Amino acid sequence: MTEALFRSDAYLARCDAVVTHVADDGVELDRTVFYPLGGGQAGDTGWLALSDGTRLRVTDARKSRREGATPDDTLHVLDPASGWKDRLAVGRAVSAEVEWERRHRHMRFHTATHLLCAVVKQLVDGCSITADYARLDFAMTDLLDKEQVQAGLDRLIAEAHPVSCEWITDEEMLANPQLVKSMSVSPPVGFGRVRLLRVQDVDLQPCGGTHVKNTSEIGHVRVAKIEKKSARTRRVVLEFAD
Ligand SMILES: [Zn+2]
Repeated sequence: MTEALFRSDAYLARCDAVVTHVADDGVELDRTVFYPLGGGQAGDTGWLALSDGTRLRVTDARKSRREGATPDDTLHVLDPASGWKDRLAVGRAVSAEVEWERRHRHMRFHTATHLLCAVVKQLVDGCSITADYARLDFAMTDLLDKEQVQAGLDRLIAEAHPVSCEWITDEEMLANPQLVKSMSVSPPVGFGRVRLLRVQDVDLQPCGGTHVKNTSEIGHVRVAKIEKKSARTRRVVLEFAD
C-alpha cells in the first residue's frame, strides 16, 4: 500500500521511495508525494530520479486500478519515451519529485475554492482544479453578482485565515451530513476516518486534496467568468491575476 505523504504534508515536494508494482504505463511506490487525480484536483506531474542521475518524467498520477488496490495506491504514469521500462523494476529505489510550481498552483486554487464555497453558500455540483484555472459549479438558480463574489474572495484572502486538517471517523461523517457541500464528489470515506479541511472561521468540509496553510498564500485570484451552465447550475471560473 502506498503511504500518501501529501495528505499530512502538502509542502513535501520530494521523497525517497521503492517501486512496489510495475504496470503497463507506470509504477506504484511504497510512499509518494504525488497527488493522484481526484476530488476535482488534477494529478501531479514530476520525475522519478535514479541514483545514477537519470530523471524519468512522470506525466500524470492516478489512483491505481489494479485488482486489490487500496484507496491510496497511486499509479505514477511515466513518459513512454523515457525508456523507463528498462530502468524500473520492483524493489528499485527512486527519488519521487513533484513539479512543485504546478502543484503549488493547484494548492492555491484548491484553497480558493473552499473560500468560494463560503462566499456563495450553495451546494457544489462539479469541480475542476488545474494549474490554469479552478471551476466550481453551484446547484442554484439565482444570479450571482461577479463583483460581490470577487469582493468576498478578496476579503477572505486578505484576512489571512489559517488552514488546517482534522480527522473524524466514518461514523461521525455519516452522522453529520451537513458537513458535505459537494453533490458531485463523495466524501473520502472507506479509510475508516475522514479528513476535514478547516479554513478557520470560514469553511469546514471533508476534503482529501492539497491546500496552502494560510489563505494569504493564495495570492490574487480573479473571478474570470460566471455563467449559467444549466437551468439549475451556475459556474464560477477563477484564474490567477498574476
Ligand atoms: Zn479541499
